[in-house]
Amino acid sequence: MAARILSGNAIRDQIYSELAGEIASLAASGIRPGLAAVLVGDNSASQLYVKSKIAACGKLGLASFMLTPPATITTGELLAAVDNLNHRDEIDGILVQMPLPPQIDSKKILDAVDPAKDVDGFHPVNVGKLVAGRPNLVACTPAGVMEIFRRSNIPLEGASAVVMGRSDIVGKPMALLLLHASATVTICHSKTRDLREVSRRADIVVAAMGRAAMVTADYIRPGATVIDVGQNVVTSRVEAGKIFANFPEKIAAFEARGSVLVGDVHPDVVNLAGALTPVPGGVGPLTIAMLMSNTVGAARMRRGSKNPVAAGGRSSCSA
Ligand code: NAP
Repeated sequence: MAARILSGNAIRDQIYSELAGEIASLAASGIRPGLAAVLVGDNSASQLYVKSKIAACGKLGLASFMLTPPATITTGELLAAVDNLNHRDEIDGILVQMPLPPQIDSKKILDAVDPAKDVDGFHPVNVGKLVAGRPNLVACTPAGVMEIFRRSNIPLEGASAVVMGRSDIVGKPMALLLLHASATVTICHSKTRDLREVSRRADIVVAAMGRAAMVTADYIRPGATVIDVGQNVVTSRVEAGKIFANFPEKIAAFEARGSVLVGDVHPDVVNLAGALTPVPGGVGPLTIAMLMSNTVGAARMRRGSKNPVAAGGRSSCSA
């Protein structure tokens, strides 16, 4: 039987409609949350990501600010720019789009963002709060995955969860959030032995490796919930043909565009999993929605609104 498809687009729309109410109530107290994006240089993928984040601000009525220093900027100059954003009261959230040019000390820049404005949840203070079980501003992609679980009524307590990937932005915070939800969590990475066997025992699999269609049906226990975080652009006709052998519409889309977006999970898993996030339209839309949610939450916390708790019980920014 085909898996239940967990639509990130539908959950994003729910979150946006909750946020619209919260933004209206902040506006009634004279507060308009603001997000500043720092985009260094002219990396085209980064430009696209920042553009979508700014567009989401516009859609929701948040203020947005863009800083676009040249790729030649020094660490010192960028630190000064971040410090300036830290001190501007109308800015509640600061995101520094990664990757930064090689001459920049990225860790130093991320550490310089005021933790109260760290809407990406990357600052060590916010990571520490997450470890301690007092999450505040949580990394957007894993926070979005938790919204998928919660709003799709996927039980986590006592479930066996495998997280594939241990990056600071996805794998590690994802594992911590699942742990705090009382799942029994196994974190896997490139040195994990018998990944297939480990994965096959899981009730929940979160794939975040950046390996196109690597998680084939033999990695999945029938009925498991599978969350596909991966976003891989496949440009080889042969590879696309192999991956989508059973999905002629995807091959047609490849032919039209010359590329196709593929998750880390093989599309055939849809015939075995109990529930599955699609790519595109699964985890991706939630990442930006949680950035918006974090920005509104940061405004509420920083500017002392009388209504500190997010609507809909969203997991981040509620502590
Ligand atoms: P990353 O920093 O490159 O980390 C990849 C992780 O996967 C590493 O921990 C790595 O292990 C592990 N890994 C790589 N190959 C593996 C293999 N063959 N077997 C087991 N583990 C393996 O990537 P990331 O930033 O976390 O992103 C992961 C994926 O999620 C990418 O496709 C990215 O585009 C996507 N993503 C999507 C969104 C979204 O909004 N949907 C947001 C962020 C990221 P080691 O640590 O041992 O190297």
